[in-house]
Amino acid sequence: MASIELADLTKRFDDVTAVDGIDLEVRDGEFLVVVGPSGCGKSTTLRCIAGLESPTDGRIRIGDEDVTAQEPHERDIAMVFQNYALYPHMTAERNMTFGMQSATDFSSEEIDQRVAEAAETLDIADLLDRTPSALSGGEQQRVALGRAIVRDPAVFLMDEPLSNLDAKLRVQMRTELSRLHEELGTTTVYVTHDQTEAMTLGDRVVVMNDGRIQQVDTPQRLYDYPSNRFVAEFIGDPAMNMLEVTVEDGPSGPIVRHEAFTIEVPDAPELEGLDGDRAVLGFRPEDASLADRDAAAGGGADAPDRRQTGRGDPERTTGPIEATVQVTEPLGDTLLCYCRAGEDEFKVQTAPRTGRAAGDGVTLTLDADRLHLFDPETGEAIY
Ligand code: ATP
Repeated sequence: MASIELADLTKRFDDVTAVDGIDLEVRDGEFLVVVGPSGCGKSTTLRCIAGLESPTDGRIRIGDEDVTAQEPHERDIAMVFQNYALYPHMTAERNMTFGMQSATDFSSEEIDQRVAEAAETLDIADLLDRTPSALSGGEQQRVALGRAIVRDPAVFLMDEPLSNLDAKLRVQMRTELSRLHEELGTTTVYVTHDQTEAMTLGDRVVVMNDGRIQQVDTPQRLYDYPSNRFVAEFIGDPAMNMLEVTVEDGPSGPIVRHEAFTIEVPDAPELEGLDGDRAVLGFRPEDASLADRDAAAGGGADAPDRRQTGRGDPERTTGPIEATVQVTEPLGDTLLCYCRAGEDEFKVQTAPRTGRAAGDGVTLTLDADRLHLFDPETGEAIY
């Protein structure tokens, strides 16, 4: 096993800067997921670690070794690709072992032993004699994982390994990958554009955009404390609501003024002195609760989801905000209400079967400990 260190890693293709000066440390034994939109530079970062691309600038260390100038086969890594990259004319077993004896010090007995163990772990012992055309997509991906496992490398590098599988199999393989990591504990860097995969698999998650790291954190902290607007909107589905507001000093602390409402943000020293500054208010659809407009204050019909985040007293709410339901989307376990206040529309996630419908006048309260404010120019979180 080994840690990985990227220092000022940069990769340019002509006039495209795919990776723009990344500093990152992957801890020994960690499952680190790199997530971001298409073209943000995730695969290029991974390919640089693998040695399949040579960096324009910067250094890469694996364990104690600077591998920046090393060929891929000199690095103690195994890569798993989206398209499995199996040889079509070879059996599953041959695919798993191909090139091993010449490239490693393993004897053929050791290799047989490792294949048997990997096949057992991945439940493919019965498939070892088949060629890829006789295997399903999920089985091919297991063989590709098996090929990585038998090499027992210091590092696994995985580039969207589940994205060719159907939704159900993807969920199943996700669980298996977690189990595999528990069992083997191999340092893993896993690239995906799928935030659910990132959140469920990663010990820590790196969010990238435009070749740069936006934030590195545990899944829950990314969700609760996004460091900027990009991360706030990228992580979470349905996405965080964003409304333009002004921050003001109120009589008993900072207040946030929207064209259609004013809310108090108690105990927010970060906001003191911003009197009159524009900001973007962010709140997640599940951090608001709805009541009928004429219901007694605090007696809302839908209980808010109050998650303890350590940010303060979870019982505090702010509002009320008067809004009108525009559209509802029943999602089975929740009812998503698109509400309007002034010119702005935002989503509120409520309990299902409440009978809420378009045209309803509602009163909204927000969980004061779960509000976010972002700088309108830089997008950086200010609260
Ligand atoms: P995706 O999820 O779509 O695979 P990604 O985040 O993995 O995207 P990269 O594949 O790393 O992104 O690409 C980052 C940028 O570098 C993109 O603009 C891409 O077009 C460009 N790029 C990648 N490889 C090459 C190449 N070999 N030649 C020229 N440009 C490249």
